[in-house]
Amino acid sequence: MNATIINGVTGFPLGHTLSPQLHGKIYEMLGLNAVMKAFPAQDIQEVLQVMRAQPLELLAVTLPHKQEVMKYLDDVDEEAKIIGAVNTVVNRGGKLYGYNTDIAGISEALSPFQLKGENCLILGAGGVARPVAHYLKKCGANIFCFNRTREKADELMKEFGGITVSNIESQPENYKLLVNATPVGMYPNISVSPFPEKLLNASKIVFDLIYNPHETKLLSDAKKRGALSISGLTMFLEQACEQVRIWSGKVLEEQQKAKLKTYLENLISSQSSP
Ligand code: NAP
Repeated sequence: MNATIINGVTGFPLGHTLSPQLHGKIYEMLGLNAVMKAFPAQDIQEVLQVMRAQPLELLAVTLPHKQEVMKYLDDVDEEAKIIGAVNTVVNRGGKLYGYNTDIAGISEALSPFQLKGENCLILGAGGVARPVAHYLKKCGANIFCFNRTREKADELMKEFGGITVSNIESQPENYKLLVNATPVGMYPNISVSPFPEKLLNASKIVFDLIYNPHETKLLSDAKKRGALSISGLTMFLEQACEQVRIWSGKVLEEQQKAKLKTYLENLISSQSSP
């Protein structure tokens, strides 16, 4: 019998990452003899050394290493280079290759909508705002960004092409899509929303990248106001499926993904309950 393959997830602090459980479930569904272990580390180079030595076949990379890791890889996928972040490293015969699968997650969430020429507002200008801005640029959307630290929004908009706004409440009717790319509303601070409820209405699509809880206050406000709401869970699930596809070549069927979504929702609810 073949030995169990070890994959990893790294970041710092890693906290209660759901990736080992999510990946474990995907491997089980696809019949892959593998597990994902957590490798919390402040220094990404240490984990890459472990990856080469053990070896690990797949490494999922989270905050704060998504940009730094790119320097130490043998090659980086072209789209990941444009985004400027890698969340997936695959070890092929001792050579380390970097990819960005957040973009697949964002595409899964937003591809049903026609965004060409539409005004889209990103709230936040951190790591995950980068693939969002890249996706919207590819769609031909008009990108707007608001961030607590204005300079970071300016930098992001300069890089991807868009306009920094200094007030999310001015001309809210302009926006077709609102994206929350901040942790505002994330567990345990679930009673707050990054957007005032009055900005939400039936002509809007609201995409909250947060997946814990899977229905944030923002999404529940959006539903109440008739807006179309999309949870970060869709993205979280798809980016993991894409990691597995890049590593193993195997893909889940839609029915399996639906089961996985229910599994994740239950997992999140159980971890968030007191
Ligand atoms: P990050 O790089 O740390 O950036 C966080 C952003 O949120 C920054 O723009 C920051 O503003 C802003 N922010 C933080 N606290 C805030 C507050 N209290 N009020 C207003 N703005 C605040 O984090 P990230 O990687 O971009 O992640 C952001 C969120 O996306 C997280 O909640 C994460 O859970 C979620 N996410 C989801 C997925 C998924 O698969 N669904 C993937 C990645 C991330 P400053 O620039 O002023 O600090």
